[in-house]
Amino acid sequence: MRSIYMDHSATTPVDPRVFEAMKPYYTCEFGNASSVHRKGQAARKAVETGREQIAALINANPQEIVFTSGGTESDNQAIITFALNNGKQGKHLITSAIEHHAVLESFHYLERCGYDVTILPVNAQGMVEPETLAGAIRPDTILVSVMHANNEIGTVQPIEELAAISHKAGAVFHTDAVQTVGKLPIDVRRMGIDMLSASSHKLYGPKGIGCLYVKKGVRISNLLYGGGQESKLRAGTENVPGIVGLGKAAEIAGQEMQQRADLLTRLGKRLREGIINSIPNAIFTGHPDQRVPGSVSVCFQFADGEPILLMLDSYGIMASSGSACVCGALDPSPVLLAIGLPHEIARGSLRLTLGKDNTEEDVDYTLEVLPKLIANLRRM
Ligand SMILES: *Cc1c(COP(=O)(O)O)cnc(C)c1O
Repeated sequence: MRSIYMDHSATTPVDPRVFEAMKPYYTCEFGNASSVHRKGQAARKAVETGREQIAALINANPQEIVFTSGGTESDNQAIITFALNNGKQGKHLITSAIEHHAVLESFHYLERCGYDVTILPVNAQGMVEPETLAGAIRPDTILVSVMHANNEIGTVQPIEELAAISHKAGAVFHTDAVQTVGKLPIDVRRMGIDMLSASSHKLYGPKGIGCLYVKKGVRISNLLYGGGQESKLRAGTENVPGIVGLGKAAEIAGQEMQQRADLLTRLGKRLREGIINSIPNAIFTGHPDQRVPGSVSVCFQFADGEPILLMLDSYGIMASSGSACVCGALDPSPVLLAIGLPHEIARGSLRLTLGKDNTEEDVDYTLEVLPKLIANLRRM
């Protein structure tokens, strides 16, 4: 049976070139990067190379990169430790209604600690309008966190404008860029980003490794207590193979970004147009052009997301409905409700996120299966 993976927003396979680069650090070069002997030094060197590679991809200084266990930890550390360290300057924090749970739950924790959190609404395309932020920001706002692109509907936010508004009010700007690092050009300096979260397994690297960019001078702290690794910002023995993998994945993404974006834009357009031409009552969600290449999110009226996924899977097509984390729950995705879709439409959501190894044949096969499947479900 065919196996067509179209769920790259949930995770990606490790690129074979990345896997090759990692391998020696599991076996012969297994040293602890804190050890003084040669194996330790080889590991240290690999960690610093990884740091340079990911820093280069986003135009940061290597000293501004802290390795973490992934996007979730990066979001938690950036938001929670920044707020706790800077609470004397103000207790007001701002985020958006469509953030990943790793961000939203961090803010909920801070609310329980006595902080005042404003959750900005988004427009029908899933965009945080700069005027909305300008209207909500206050003299006591210390932190604004808005994701670069949404994992469910693919909308890319006007980060530069949002960062500029934050800075004008004296607040620090964080972005969860897990869905865009390696996919869209990111220049933290030009865009005015003070903190940025990234995750390796969303860009063809291994799981369980990520990083946080923290601009020099922005005061965060460690979330874990222990050794002084990562300039005292992340205790625990470094995940050397993981860091090597993230670095290599970042390097390759930098080289292949344009080529991947061209392919994904073309395949995404083919998929979207195919759906428009073959399935009535399909409502596309997210922004029509400010979106991550290769992300197609759509709601089918009079059909439910869960059975669509199961039927697609029976044909070998792997996709998701809303976010992978809320899958299995009956409630429609909060992101789809935040863009103003009524429950009965949000229920029928399907997210197809293409990757660098998808082909035109994958798209055409999906377009052969999907219309029949939706028609059958609607009849039932
Ligand atoms: C996947 C994802 C995360 C979580 O990253 P992990 O490395 O899996 O912890 C955070 N934010 C966004 C937008 C994501 O897509």
